[in-house]
Amino acid sequence: MAKIIVAGGSLGGLFVANMLLRQGHDVAILEKAFGSLDGRGAGIVTHDALAEALLIAGVPASESLGVQVEKRVTLGVDGECLDAMNLPQILTSWSRLYHLLKNQFPPERYLQGKTIVSLSQTDGAVKITCEDRSEYEAELLIASDGIRSGVRAQLAPTVQPEYAGYVAWRGVCDESVLSNYTLASLFNYFGFCLPSGEQMLGYPVAGSGNDTRAGKRRYNFVWYRPASASQELPNLLTDADGVNYPLGIPPAKVAWRHIAHMRATARTILAPQFAEITEKTPQPFFQAIYDLSSSQIAFNRVALMGDAAFVGRPHVGMGVTKAGDEARVIASCIETFGATPKALLAYQNSRLTLGQQVVKRAQYLGRYMQSQGKQSNSGEFHATAIKRNANTVMSETAVDISQLLLEGKAVPQEFQHSVKI
Ligand SMILES: Cc1cc2nc3c(=O)[nH]c(=O)nc-3n(C[C@H](O)[C@H](O)[C@H](O)COP(=O)(O)OP(=O)(O)OC[C@H]3O[C@@H](n4cnc5c(N)ncnc54)[C@H](O)[C@@H]3O)c2cc1C
Repeated sequence: MAKIIVAGGSLGGLFVANMLLRQGHDVAILEKAFGSLDGRGAGIVTHDALAEALLIAGVPASESLGVQVEKRVTLGVDGECLDAMNLPQILTSWSRLYHLLKNQFPPERYLQGKTIVSLSQTDGAVKITCEDRSEYEAELLIASDGIRSGVRAQLAPTVQPEYAGYVAWRGVCDESVLSNYTLASLFNYFGFCLPSGEQMLGYPVAGSGNDTRAGKRRYNFVWYRPASASQELPNLLTDADGVNYPLGIPPAKVAWRHIAHMRATARTILAPQFAEITEKTPQPFFQAIYDLSSSQIAFNRVALMGDAAFVGRPHVGMGVTKAGDEARVIASCIETFGATPKALLAYQNSRLTLGQQVVKRAQYLGRYMQSQGKQSNSGEFHATAIKRNANTVMSETAVDISQLLLEGKAVPQEFQHSVKI
C-alpha cells in the first residue's frame, strides 16, 4: 500500500482517487475550494469509455447517468429542420457525475481549502506544501488541478493555456417553461444551429435531483461566439460594477448588459427555438475557450492528468471521458509497476500522444469559428466564415473518437502540421 496524494477534487481527481483507493492505496485529495463544487458545470456528453471509467472508480453500473437522445437535428434561422441524423447518446450533467464519484470517496480523505503552492521531490517521496502551510508527503502526487494547474506551473511553467478566440455561452433551461413548438421540434434532440462563423448546440439533461421524467428535465445549451482577445473578451469578463475577472468570471457576476445583448442577438441569428431557450434560461454564463497541450506529463514522482495536462476545446465533448481514461491508465500502471516513477513514465508513454491528438482534433473542429472577427486593412472586423456543412458538424461533434485515436486518425493528415490558426 502506497501513500498517494491527488491534487484537485473535481471529476478528474475523484476518478483517479477512487480507482487508487480501490486498489488498496492510502489516498488523500487536496482540493483548493471550500464547500461543495456542485453547480460548476452544465451538460456533459457521455461515451462508452466514460461508463467504463465510472465502473472502475466504483460507481455501480445500475446508476442512471442521464437522458437518452436518439437523434441529432440542425435547425435553420426560420426554425425548420435543415438536416437530421440518428445518433443515440446519453447526456448527463457535471453535477450528476460529481455526486456519483464523490459518494464513493471517504469524506475524511477529501481535504478542502488546500491550495498546493510548492512541492519538492527526493528519491523516495514528494513533499507538498499548501497555502495554509500544511505539509504532506507521499510516494506519488497525481495532479488533476485543472487548466490553471499550480502543480504544472512549478514543473512546466512555459505550458500555458492559449485563448482560442471565442467563448461558449452556456446555461440550462427548465423543460416546463418551453413552448410546445420548441418541445416538439428541438427538446428531445441533440440540436444544432449554425449561424455564420458561430455554433449553437444543445441537448436535454436531467432536472433537479437527477429527475429524467418528461416535464422535469432541462435543456443544456452551448453557444460558441467569437470574442476578440484585445477588446471583446476583457469587456465580457468585466462585471456590472466594473470589476474585471481575467481568469474567468463567476456565473453570477456576468454583466446583465452582456446577457441582454446575447439574448437579443439570439433572436436575430438563431432558430427561434434556441432563442426561446436563451431567453428563458435564468442565469446564462460563459467560459472563454482555451487550448492547452503538454509535452511532458510525468515528472519523476508527479504526474499531470485531466485539464491540468491537456484541454481540448469542448467540440470533442470528451474532457471528462479523457480524464477518466487517464485515471484508468495511471491506476493500471501503478498496479503493474507499483507507486514508482516507472509507473508514471509508463502512463506518459501511453497517454501523451493521445492527449495531444485530442487537443488537435478539437482545434480542427473549432477552426472555422476563428475565421470570424479578423481585422481587415480598413480596421473593421469582418466575417470570412468557412461554411460548415450541417451533416459534417453533426457527425463530428462530441462523438466517440476512441477508435480514431487508437488508429491515429483523429486529425486529418493535412491538418496535423497546420494546427495554429
Ligand atoms: C463549455 C464546455 C463544455 C464541456 N462539455 C464537455 C462534455 O460534453 N463532455 C466532456 O467530457 N467534457 C466536457 N467539458 C470538459 C470538462 O468539463 C473538463 O475537461 C473536465 O471536467 C476536467 O476536469 P478536471 O478534474 O481535470 O479539472 P477541473 O474540473 O478544472 O478541476 C480542477 C480542480 O482542482 C482544484 N485546484 C486548482 N488549483 C489547485 C491547487 N493549487 N491545489 C489544489 N487544488 C486545486 C480546483 O478547485 C478544481 O476543483 C466541457 C468544458 C467546457 C468549458
